[in-house]
Amino acid sequence: MSGPAEVLGAHVRDIPDFPQPGIVFKDITPLLGDAAAFRTCIDALADPFAGEGVSKVLGTEARGFILAAPVAYRFGAGFVPVRKAGKLPWEIEREEYALEYGTDLLEIHRDAVAPGERVLIVDDVLATGGTAAATARLVSALGGEVVGFGFLIELGFLHGRAALGHDRVVSLLTYD
Ligand code: AMP
Repeated sequence: MSGPAEVLGAHVRDIPDFPQPGIVFKDITPLLGDAAAFRTCIDALADPFAGEGVSKVLGTEARGFILAAPVAYRFGAGFVPVRKAGKLPWEIEREEYALEYGTDLLEIHRDAVAPGERVLIVDDVLATGGTAAATARLVSALGGEVVGFGFLIELGFLHGRAALGHDRVVSLLTYD
């Protein structure tokens, strides 16, 4: 029997120099398209946080949505989209985060997380951690509590885990 990491790793495709030279893009579309691998991925992201009273799962635009929504469904929790600037139609909270060159903005609706609510943050890839850390700051700004983070892939050599400063960071596949 092979474990979840072997099953999942076999369905992640490396695309060198995409979207720019020097980046090895982790293409998860083969995994999403494989019924068994997709189910294994969602279960493995959710299981470590079962019984922790998670009532909202946050996914970051765009691939985070794909993984966070079924994790929320598994918990019987709500799903919250964290979006790039200018996409959300109502009142927003906003956080800036660093890109390789410059900065970008993430936004959340002000009523998406209630004070004291227990929140899980899910994304496909943990790279430098800037995106997930900004998402956690949005949760804090609304008074929510970050229970932990779940990632399909962690790029260990970028040390994003340290940037998050949280003791519950689960990643299913780590590349060093
Ligand atoms: P970071 O903020 O540096 O942790 O970057 C994480 C975000 O960028 C995630 O939402 C990923 O979807 C995306 N990302 C970063 N690096 C990669 C990569 N090598 N392959 C695919 N997506 C990536």
